[in-house]
Amino acid sequence: MEDLEKVFDHKAFGYAYTRIGNPTLSAFEQKINELEGGMGAVCTGSGMAALSTALLAVCESGDEIITARGLYGGTIDLFHDLEKLGIGIRFAEELTADAVKSLATEKTRAVFGELISNPALKVLDIPAVSEAAHERGIPLFVDSTTATPYIARPLSLGADVVIHSTSKYLNGGGNAIGGVIVDGGKFDWDFCKFTALSEFSKYKKRAFTVRLRTDLWENLGGCMAPMNAFLSYIGMDTLGLRMAKICENADRLARALSKIPNIRVSYLSLTDHPYHQYLKSELSGYGGGIISFRAGSRERAFRIINDLKLAFIASNIGDVRTLVIHPASTLYCRVPEAEREAAGVYEDTVRISVGIEDAEDLIRDFTEAIENNK
Ligand SMILES: *Cc1c(COP(=O)(O)O)cnc(C)c1O
Repeated sequence: MEDLEKVFDHKAFGYAYTRIGNPTLSAFEQKINELEGGMGAVCTGSGMAALSTALLAVCESGDEIITARGLYGGTIDLFHDLEKLGIGIRFAEELTADAVKSLATEKTRAVFGELISNPALKVLDIPAVSEAAHERGIPLFVDSTTATPYIARPLSLGADVVIHSTSKYLNGGGNAIGGVIVDGGKFDWDFCKFTALSEFSKYKKRAFTVRLRTDLWENLGGCMAPMNAFLSYIGMDTLGLRMAKICENADRLARALSKIPNIRVSYLSLTDHPYHQYLKSELSGYGGGIISFRAGSRERAFRIINDLKLAFIASNIGDVRTLVIHPASTLYCRVPEAEREAAGVYEDTVRISVGIEDAEDLIRDFTEAIENNK
């Protein structure tokens, strides 16, 4: 009883109950924390649980968050939910340093962006945006799901908190939903301003993670299932191999498709991509696994997708198998057109999440499907 009493009182390390802590979850958290170079990580039941828990840990009713249009659809919906709780969301067209300067107020508690958005493939300039945020005493939260620590480590570029949907590339096999919040531990919280954290002020730079661990994450209950942590941990053993192959395949496939007339291809390693300059400066030269192309019409996009023999039609990304979808009629079917287009999703957009198959096979599959459906 004495030992367990200390565990419950946070005076001794130990496992009291799986929602609050579990050795498999700890192993998974330590691994992603090391990869991202963080001070501590908390894993969650999904990427959405990671996003909602992380933002609610620093925001109360009346506070504000700065973000951009063109986010992951679920995240846009989450921001509308947060608005209903009294948290103001200020949407910039593009999340730049200037946007932060003009939208920041006394009430701003977080700047939130995606390192590589999908499928628009806008790249967040983390050094510039974090500098603008830090000058105003605001932390930068980055969703790095599509980049993974193989391509970039946002904390080392200036971000304060990194969030992943581990359901995608970190797991890699599409067999377990999950999320993780990694705290860089460098942000200097002003506890008069961040009243959501003031109860935890004695933990100083660890206040965010301590609040998650002993309060909000525990109480909202969005923990990860240990079996999912186990599957994702094993998946992460091959992250480097998979990402190297996925990025190489995507680069080769995008180059091959860009030579076909009557389609318009978007991929970060193509020199005509508007965010190509960030490939070297922030992304270690890797463009990631998402390619999109515009087929000219929704009807042609459907015909091409239906004609593919190797690629699976699925809404997921980050799998070892190549997945393809028509986002406008599925993932974005309830998103208004202007918001949908800000996310790079047009009526004729086809999204590809490139897998680890043989590159020649993939090029042949897509080339034939496109050329057979003119
Ligand atoms: C999938 C995804 C999410 C949501 O993650 P889930 O694990 O599906 O809850 C959040 N952000 C991005 C960028 C994603 O791709």
